[in-house]
Amino acid sequence: MKVLSVTSECAPLIKTGGLADVAGALPGALAPHGCTLRTLLPGYPKVMAAVEDGEVLTSLPDLFGGSGRIIAGHAAGLDLLVLDAPHLYARDGSPYLGPDGQDWPDNPERFAALCWAAMLLARDGLPDGWTPDVVHGHDWQAGLMPYFLQRHAPGTRSVLSVHNIAFQGLAPPWRLGSLRVAPADFHPGLAEYYGQVSALKTGLICADRLSTVSPTYARELLTPEFGMGLQGVLRDRRADLVGILNGIDLEMWNPANDPDITPYTAPSGKAQNRAALQAEFGLPDGEGPLCIVVSRLTEQKGLDVLLEALPALTSRGGRLALLGSGQRELEAVWRDAAVRDPNLSVHLGYDEALSHRMMAGADAILIPSRFEPCGLTQLYGLRYGTIPLVALTGGLADTVIDASDAGLKAGAATGVTVYPLTAEALTAGLERLCTLFSAPKVWTRMQSNAMRHPVGWDSSGAAYAALYRDLAGRS
Ligand code: ADP
Repeated sequence: MKVLSVTSECAPLIKTGGLADVAGALPGALAPHGCTLRTLLPGYPKVMAAVEDGEVLTSLPDLFGGSGRIIAGHAAGLDLLVLDAPHLYARDGSPYLGPDGQDWPDNPERFAALCWAAMLLARDGLPDGWTPDVVHGHDWQAGLMPYFLQRHAPGTRSVLSVHNIAFQGLAPPWRLGSLRVAPADFHPGLAEYYGQVSALKTGLICADRLSTVSPTYARELLTPEFGMGLQGVLRDRRADLVGILNGIDLEMWNPANDPDITPYTAPSGKAQNRAALQAEFGLPDGEGPLCIVVSRLTEQKGLDVLLEALPALTSRGGRLALLGSGQRELEAVWRDAAVRDPNLSVHLGYDEALSHRMMAGADAILIPSRFEPCGLTQLYGLRYGTIPLVALTGGLADTVIDASDAGLKAGAATGVTVYPLTAEALTAGLERLCTLFSAPKVWTRMQSNAMRHPVGWDSSGAAYAALYRDLAGRS
């Protein structure tokens, strides 16, 4: 089974969020199931610099306002097809944002070009004889891929995965031509969305199959509360929509041999890391749990609600170390809060190694998201024996077992879930967390449960492989 994975980011080469982790993990997750994935990625400077043994396979003379090339090569163990198109991608920094922190104005065209290149690879195959059976795209950036396949390479099957429906890839209709979308397709049944061209909607309609990153999010997406306007489109396609949980890289995230921490295999081994973390963040001693947040700072993550509920933690001797970056206003809010509260310490920025040290040293990780398609940090938390306190939504609901009376009695509890996400409910959740923490036997049992919880790719890799096979069999 040959699969072309089409993505705008891919860890460890270029990452802004969980999508990159998943795109980077899929090839390894699918290999044991007889699927070979090659990853088509824009040739951002960081990607171009990382590619080893690059070989130009194809030239694309007419690629959205310039010329491009497909370069085959390897980086970080990934089999890459890089779309080298300097007029679109030779820009430093974030894959999406210019130096002013705003989206690049030509983002719709930049990623339409990626979709076009995927279509050409599927239609013509590669000079090395490789032709994909299935093309698997991720998020709005790959939204036009299923459309281009339908129009120009109808023999190839497509899957489109929704990692976060909040991002939809809208463009005004006068750009239809520059996006290579036929004017006749600009209608509510296809590319049109409230007067705009929607790359994501087009993909959701045209892809042979749809997936998202957890079973609960797959259900939530059908509702107005979570579907962000696309719930109707998704309801029409519910028979083709499947939720497959993300896994994490068990080698990169392994407390037994993580180079960034003092390694451990049991909850008791966290003590040294805990002391180091507390010192690194300059937090005082306390009776309560040492909690962390590792997150993008955006409205989605519900951290404004956490700030409101925080006294429930700090008044019980709990402390919070936050690592995050994102919206300037939210960064300022947290920076100011840390000045006022000695039990809160904030590190603004993006720091992978620090995130490992935090997972190892913390007692609990707080994830009060308003919505969370899958979420990865609760999975890291489980693996590191760091108890997740989560909002009961999306993948958080699918991966954390609440310390209810039943959960505790069954010996299955791994965390604390909060519903609905209000300051009152979160306050009660934090109080519950502190109570659990004050009973060392109960807490250690939860940590052990968490560390045993399967968070790898085994079953999800099998689920994607089954999806690809089913699709290819149909063609
Ligand atoms: P999202 O994709 O919505 O940002 P996820 O939980 O799915 O949320 O994935 C976030 C990923 O980014 C995780 O791997 C997390 O550890 C990482 N991350 C987020 N913020 C930071 C940060 N400031 N420093 C280091 N890693 C971060």
